[in-house]
Amino acid sequence: MSTPPTFVIAGGGLAAAKAAEALREQDFDGRVVLIGDEPHPPYERPPLSKDYLQGKSERGKIFVHDAGWYGEHDVDLRSGVAVTGVDPGSHQVTLSDGERLGYDRLLLATGAAPRRLAVPGADLDGVLHLRTVDDSERIRDALAKVSRIAIVGAGWIGLEVAAAARAAGVRVSVLEIEPQPLLRVLGSRIASVFADLHRGHDVDLRLGVRVAEITGQDGQVRGVRLADGDRLDVDAVVVGIGAVPNTGLAWSAGLAVDDGVRVGADLRTSDPDIFAAGDVASAYHPLLGAHIRVEHWANALNQPVVAAGAMLGRDVAYDRLPYFYTDQYDLGMEYSGHASPGHVDDVVVRGDLASREFIAFWIADGRVTAGMNVNVWGVADQIQTLIRSGARVDRDRLADTGVPLSQVAAD
Ligand SMILES: Cc1cc2nc3c(=O)[nH]c(=O)nc-3n(C[C@H](O)[C@H](O)[C@H](O)COP(=O)(O)OP(=O)(O)OC[C@H]3O[C@@H](n4cnc5c(N)ncnc54)[C@H](O)[C@@H]3O)c2cc1C
Repeated sequence: MSTPPTFVIAGGGLAAAKAAEALREQDFDGRVVLIGDEPHPPYERPPLSKDYLQGKSERGKIFVHDAGWYGEHDVDLRSGVAVTGVDPGSHQVTLSDGERLGYDRLLLATGAAPRRLAVPGADLDGVLHLRTVDDSERIRDALAKVSRIAIVGAGWIGLEVAAAARAAGVRVSVLEIEPQPLLRVLGSRIASVFADLHRGHDVDLRLGVRVAEITGQDGQVRGVRLADGDRLDVDAVVVGIGAVPNTGLAWSAGLAVDDGVRVGADLRTSDPDIFAAGDVASAYHPLLGAHIRVEHWANALNQPVVAAGAMLGRDVAYDRLPYFYTDQYDLGMEYSGHASPGHVDDVVVRGDLASREFIAFWIADGRVTAGMNVNVWGVADQIQTLIRSGARVDRDRLADTGVPLSQVAAD
């Protein structure tokens, strides 16, 4: 009797947990080993900058599966263990506990790590990053103690932390190098909605500034010096300047790597038995006709279903549109699609920017490539249908709240 195949999942986040689930749901009855270097079973990260950071939800709610699920589904979960090497030739991975483990198929779901700030003082106590549940708890503890913080970077995570800090009554300065928050994703007009939102909540939003140094005393953060010479006295600094994909394993195994681990629409790497999904994967998107790396929850939730199918030898492709959401104060939004910076002709707004109830559409070549609904609900599916249709749109009809989204095609 031949031994059952072993599928190894390197990484212990949402994509890893969903891959294990998908393998079992797709009737794989071989061995599944899930190896994650954090000391926790896989959990979801969005609450870490929202409810959980604000102390409004419990730790127990963040886990992808309850503790018993792995045993019940015969998934060998190794938490607190890192995959330290991949040898595609011998089909083996090496682990931080010294074990060598053979695989028939390997999924890389190693995610991303926060980018560090390269300035003097970046190692002081009180300089915080946000990726893990432990990071979130550290920031929550800090918010309970400090009176003023600086947040470096006005991206999604920086702005969500700013909202949490204001909810905790902490004075906040957000320091952003670009002239608007979220500029690359949203463009200037829509980005200004987020700038106004935070200024309206008394955030000291400083745009077009560069951090030159984090100053300290006795190893502890005391302030920030900006390149223009300005100084701020703060008790902690949260750095939110983006994330870098954890491609080290793929790189040293000789796999193709660009902005992430390069995979086809079937999420297979340049090695036929190795796959990648989630934040680490730079995947060919059939609809967009390009490789994209998506750092969003829905991608880590859904890609593994396709990766599992491909690992089982099925003819599958991942073609969902990128989708993500944010909650800041009383603003909730969903964003669907992919507007490439530099390839946007126009942004059409349906609704009212000032009252923060609108849908924004990014247009390229007369077609909608992305849409963002802000405090307008139940429309994300319609927006995605419109993007997928590839139809040329009539901008006046698109802007008119009286015209259903199904009737905005140009005649
Ligand atoms: C604070 C925060 C808030 C977010 N909010 C939102 C949101 O509101 N909406 C949204 O759409 N998205 C959000 N995201 C993004 C979303 O959480 C990510 O897209 C998702 O977590 C990606 O899942 P993943 O499994 O691919 O990677 P990860 O979640 O990064 O998991 C990868 C895991 O693998 C581990 N690992 C890495 N290397 C190894 C190795 N060699 N061996 C073993 N283990 C390894 C890592 O430590 C990590 O535990 C947020 C992210 C953060 C950090």
